[in-house]
Amino acid sequence: MEKKDIDWEALDFGYHQTDYSYVCDYERGAWGEGGLTTSHTVTLSECATVLHYCQEVFEGLKAYSTQDGRIVCFRPDLNAERMEESARRLIMPPFPKERFLEAVREVIKANAAWVPPFGTGGSLYLRPFMFGTGDTLGVRPSSAYQFRILATPVGPYFKGGVAPVRIIVSDYDRAAPHGTGSVKAGLNYAMSLWPHEMATSQGYDEALYLDAATRTFVEETGGANVIFVDFDGRLVVAKSVSNSILPSITRRSLVTVAREMLGMEVIERPVRFDELGNFAECGLCGTATVIVPVESICDYDTEYVFNGGSDEMGPVLGKLRETLLGIQEGVIEGPEGWVVEICKA
Ligand SMILES: *Cc1c(COP(=O)(O)O)cnc(C)c1O
Repeated sequence: MEKKDIDWEALDFGYHQTDYSYVCDYERGAWGEGGLTTSHTVTLSECATVLHYCQEVFEGLKAYSTQDGRIVCFRPDLNAERMEESARRLIMPPFPKERFLEAVREVIKANAAWVPPFGTGGSLYLRPFMFGTGDTLGVRPSSAYQFRILATPVGPYFKGGVAPVRIIVSDYDRAAPHGTGSVKAGLNYAMSLWPHEMATSQGYDEALYLDAATRTFVEETGGANVIFVDFDGRLVVAKSVSNSILPSITRRSLVTVAREMLGMEVIERPVRFDELGNFAECGLCGTATVIVPVESICDYDTEYVFNGGSDEMGPVLGKLRETLLGIQEGVIEGPEGWVVEICKA
């Protein structure tokens, strides 16, 4: 297969239209046949529920090339399951897991020429999403939906390696207790634009959210879970007191790697903001980067600095990241079924 004529090294983390998207419609109580499409636009009724009531959920995963010439995905079954959960929460008909996995396979194969070659640091980012298309004026679930997957080649999220980020605690909340914080829905992102803008305008890279009810516990940033390493080398994972943290697949994988492969002690518990001084290292985790080291977290007069304020990742998170990346790249053998082969590169 002939790769596209692209300067792979220069790719950014942005949208570039590829040859195919996947599309499937839900009408009269059932999902249709679905298939590939070369159309990358969506035409909707001006009254579609997604436009007025945000009835939309999404996922994000990557297809990438391994050294031994395969195109693979990392744990797409978990994306399929999480999207089913997200859909149920917004009274949308889940797109069945087996069909999700087949659609992912189809759209990657059709766009194989767009998957960045091994060694470029890039990947084909897949964005499965689903939205209400029915023209329902009253506030109630749509009767029609569309499921799509768009594919776009992306470069590494951070060019020139992973530099530590500086974070500020947001004065705004991300998700209400027992609200929608634990599902991957566009509605959780619309309101995060403002706090993020506040953070960056003050010179920080990200905004950190505390639990909305008591503003005592650490939750997560707008798009990544938070993990810590204490001075005894234990991995401490922030757990929500109100079920409002998104269950990151990267974070869940790191917990397994730490426990089962690196023999680390892992503690998943609520983490108070005022105890952050007890941690040696801090990181943000998500599909785009695996782990980004956190240099500091600031809230008005309080500032916690991690890893001695170094401009590099700390040793424990570094080891974790290296191991998970090694598994993803097929260099280290990980748990069975994590790396799923789609086709030959
Ligand atoms: C997608 C997402 C994450 C990261 O999840 P991964 O499955 O690891 O990519 C974390 N927090 C939020 C709010 C998210 O939407």
